[in-house]
Amino acid sequence: MRHFPIFLDLRGRRVVLAGGGDAALAKLRLILKTEAKITVFAHDPAPEITAWEADGKLRLVRRAFAPGDALCAALAYAATEDDAEDARIATLARADGALTNIVDNLDGSQFITPAIVDRDPVTVAIGTEGAAPVLARKIKADLEAALPPALGLLARIGKSFRSAVEALPMGRKRRDFWQAYYFKAGPEALAKEGENGVERALGDLLIDHITAQERKGHVALVGAGPGDPELLTLKARKLLDEADVVIHDRLVAPEILELARREATLLNVGKQGFGPSTRQEDIGALMVEHARTGAQVVRLKSGDPGVYGRLDEELDALDENGIGWSIIPGITAANAAAAQLGQSLTKRGRNSAMRFLTGHDVKGFAEHDWRNLTKPGQVAAIYMGAKGARFIQGRMLMHGASPDTPVTAVENASRADARIIESTLATLPADIDAARTTGPVILMLGLAPREAAAALPQLQEELA
Ligand code: SAH
Repeated sequence: MRHFPIFLDLRGRRVVLAGGGDAALAKLRLILKTEAKITVFAHDPAPEITAWEADGKLRLVRRAFAPGDALCAALAYAATEDDAEDARIATLARADGALTNIVDNLDGSQFITPAIVDRDPVTVAIGTEGAAPVLARKIKADLEAALPPALGLLARIGKSFRSAVEALPMGRKRRDFWQAYYFKAGPEALAKEGENGVERALGDLLIDHITAQERKGHVALVGAGPGDPELLTLKARKLLDEADVVIHDRLVAPEILELARREATLLNVGKQGFGPSTRQEDIGALMVEHARTGAQVVRLKSGDPGVYGRLDEELDALDENGIGWSIIPGITAANAAAAQLGQSLTKRGRNSAMRFLTGHDVKGFAEHDWRNLTKPGQVAAIYMGAKGARFIQGRMLMHGASPDTPVTAVENASRADARIIESTLATLPADIDAARTTGPVILMLGLAPREAAAALPQLQEELA
């Protein structure tokens, strides 16, 4: 991030702008939304600018920008649309101590002006560092559509009510109140009775919340899916949005954690296949401790919480302590990997059943029903299997599997950096070593990527 977004207090501050054409007009329309004292320097100002001067909205000086014109100014815009003149103005204004902007000149500017969605006092600023103005316009249009025009009004009325809401204790209770106001009581009252109705609704709502029973702590064990945030369920999104505490595994993608409510406490319990981790008892204790304070806890697990997620131990800990819980399923890595390969997990005539296996368990490399797995057409998703590739290869071959049996490793399934490592039992350990994976890897035994699968019978014929 080269440009850091901030909101600058312009009340009563000087802002100077040089230029009187289209570029100047576009910027002035934005700056006129603020409470700044605006001075425009232009030989030949557009009629809109002279009209704004006549209305007392800005001061107009009909000459070129000169040294000292930006003294005490917070911001200076060079908007004459003449490169040499704009550069001259920017140098002078900078010498006067103002932050300078040359319109449409990223490198010549000390700050840039974002696209704005204005629901004053709610302001959304959108910047793309000059890289993608089309994208900024699209985001602006989407936000304009998503944020009702009344939002600003609701926020203004809400602001005047802030001190009354101090009757509620800080933290969740206050948040719940504002949530109910902005997303339910406020818009409803506005639609029914207009502005006066909103004030009454705020009063009623506050009394409801002051007299309400204490909310009980709760733990939602939520599947975060394989990594792509768009593969989260709507329920997972909603719970993340409302969570007081999020306890997550290392594998949960940062883009997903970004969706947690900004005030939420994020706790990384770092569980991963072979690496260091918080002890299971400590995770249980952590959930219980937070839920007891009345917190809404999200225990966020990669994929589906019920697949190699030690879910039952966590539920036991909650039950033993009388804490309420719910489970929100997620898309497991096997689903994402199969989709990445263009394959289905079950297929008529190939496999009517499939297995979830783990490459290692508490005792080390995991033993399975190898004999059945070696039968033709079997499909298994092997979690935490990359390090056990040699062991799996050995066991499978020992029990009579064909060395040609396809095995495809998928790293970072569903993420932008997903990789498919195509292999067979014969070369699996070497292929995985050579790939030098760093992300989570799942082995899809019996599945090749879709195109390779089509080529396979032919290949076998050639080999025969
Ligand atoms: N509950 C998770 C699995 C946890 S065990 C689920 O349902 O997916 C952790 C293992 O899951 C990793 O070692 C890896 O084998 C697999 N895994 C998780 N996310 C993955 C991803 N995006 N791509 C490939 N494998 C993944």
